[in-house]
Amino acid sequence: MLNHENSHLIFIEACNLMPGGVNSPARAFGAVGGEPVVIDRGEGAYLYDVDGNRYLDYVQSWGPMILGHAHPQVIAAIQTAAVKGASFGAPTLLENTLAKMIIDTVPSIQKIRFVNSGTEATMSAIRLARGFTNRKKIIKFIGNYHGHVDALLLAAGSAAATLGVPNSPGITEGVIQDTILLPYNNVEALKDIFHRMGKEIAAAIVEPVAGNMGCVVGSSNFLYELRHLTQEHGSILIFDEVMSGWRVGKSGAGARFSVLPDITTLGKVIGGGLPVGAYGGRADIMDNVIPAGKIFQAGTLSGNPLAMAAGIATLKTLNETDPFAALERKAAMLAEGLEDVAREAKIPVVIEQIGSMMTLFFLTEVDNKTDQYRVSGTTFNGGIVERSTATSSTGGCYSSKITDWDSAAKCNTKRYANFFWNMLERGFYFPCSQFETFFMSTAITEKEIKQTINAAEEVFKLL
Ligand SMILES: *Cc1c(COP(=O)(O)O)cnc(C)c1O
Repeated sequence: MLNHENSHLIFIEACNLMPGGVNSPARAFGAVGGEPVVIDRGEGAYLYDVDGNRYLDYVQSWGPMILGHAHPQVIAAIQTAAVKGASFGAPTLLENTLAKMIIDTVPSIQKIRFVNSGTEATMSAIRLARGFTNRKKIIKFIGNYHGHVDALLLAAGSAAATLGVPNSPGITEGVIQDTILLPYNNVEALKDIFHRMGKEIAAAIVEPVAGNMGCVVGSSNFLYELRHLTQEHGSILIFDEVMSGWRVGKSGAGARFSVLPDITTLGKVIGGGLPVGAYGGRADIMDNVIPAGKIFQAGTLSGNPLAMAAGIATLKTLNETDPFAALERKAAMLAEGLEDVAREAKIPVVIEQIGSMMTLFFLTEVDNKTDQYRVSGTTFNGGIVERSTATSSTGGCYSSKITDWDSAAKCNTKRYANFFWNMLERGFYFPCSQFETFFMSTAITEKEIKQTINAAEEVFKLL
């Protein structure tokens, strides 16, 4: 057994200092039952905890660390910026540089505003959409997470769902009365609501590839209809690519599926590990943001030089090395390997994977009486493993077994917890919830992927 003594002592102290001992619930290991390991440092593909244990990291700070930990170019950029001063609350050239890099990469973004987190980005995007359209209603999809914005913290996937808190106390009815919840990937529900109240809808916000109920890919038909209907009814389409940006591919899910939103929200990768978010889109919409326009949004530390420098170094390295095909290939290699060893062990799983995002969903046991198991309309005849990979770069018709929150929520979270702890014990750090996404980084090599599959082979036999 790995020794977790120092982690334990630090966590016990933390519990007296911070609610639940953490500053964000996803990291508390609550969904798998137990105490988190406390991290000392990261290097490349690995995390090192305070007891000196080493883990191959598939969490990557929940997405940002696409180049791995403590990447030399990112460290150098942060150091250079830090020497010049941490914050000025005044314009810097770094902001232009990162803005240009993003505008050059994401086809739907003409103008951008930097904020400090993904939550701030979605909150601001919604205010902008409402101000721009002079309408109130927003559509949000069940199982999608857009940060802890009051109006969006309904049926919000992993963090909320695994803790059994779909709606947080403290969010008033008034705040959510204009939020319309719809099932993900359901075109009929979408058509119906636009038919009934299209003219009242300010915006629809969606994760085009969802990562917060596990990785669930938006079908191109669904995204296409969403674009079509919002356009037809004068509503704003917001793609929340805080997670999928640079993960689903260099230009994000919008470009991959050839569906361009009016506003895109970003975060995670664009900050290279520092706290950054952004929202950007059509210039005629963005020019309504103060001081160009009247819609208020501000931030003392927004466009912070250290954060901009880390983001620039990350995107520059990604531009120079173009690792996206390799990331996708490595993620597929892991998915296929896990699928094989699960099949051998007769553990029913579905693996969803696109770009450098993937989730291993443990299906509920096959019902012995009928020997059938249904997930979202598909019957498994004792079939053990199904996998779907979105390989078409233009987003051809995507078919999948886990398509929405209902099908994800049926998964065997106990078995996932068991998998999680057994892999952790072997030095592999996976997300501490069934409803989160694993990430591939450029620092993880094929050798390490093979080690992961070998460890999983052992673990599946114990499940
Ligand atoms: C992580 C995430 C957010 C919230 O970003 P924070 O920086 O944690 O506030 C919003 N939307 C999506 C899709 C995310 O994955």
